[in-house]
Amino acid sequence: MEQNHIKKLIESAFSVRGLAYAPYSGFSVGAALLAADGRVFCGCNIENAAFSPSICAERAAISQAISAGCREFAAVAVCGGPMERGAGEIDYCYPCGLCRQVLMEFCPPELPVYVARSAGDYRRHRLVDLLPHAFSAADLSGGGVGGCGC
Ligand SMILES: [Zn+2]
Repeated sequence: MEQNHIKKLIESAFSVRGLAYAPYSGFSVGAALLAADGRVFCGCNIENAAFSPSICAERAAISQAISAGCREFAAVAVCGGPMERGAGEIDYCYPCGLCRQVLMEFCPPELPVYVARSAGDYRRHRLVDLLPHAFSAADLSGGGVGGCGC
């Protein structure tokens, strides 16, 4: 992926981060999911007073994509931190375990995951490295080697 495309994807994540609804944690997160066809789906975290109904930015982005009929993805960028801190002032923010599992459902294991402090300061990981031995549809049919047993 070209450097300027990565930068634009990260900038999209930072842009949607500004829309986060996080009155309880004060921790705002933005995610920008690049579809294989070039579309970008963005999401921010949306908290709830009951906590359980809260949704992370990554799952908000993938929900938008799936709802738009898009199921092929090329990359995702994530940024997050305390609301009052902007680009360059936040640390790298990784997808939570739940989001990693949801991303794995729809994305290739090699999907680049960019976690960014700013558009020019980011780390690149492969999804499979963030969620090794993921539970998948193959496990349901007995074809996998994993399985959570729940
Ligand atoms: Zn999450």
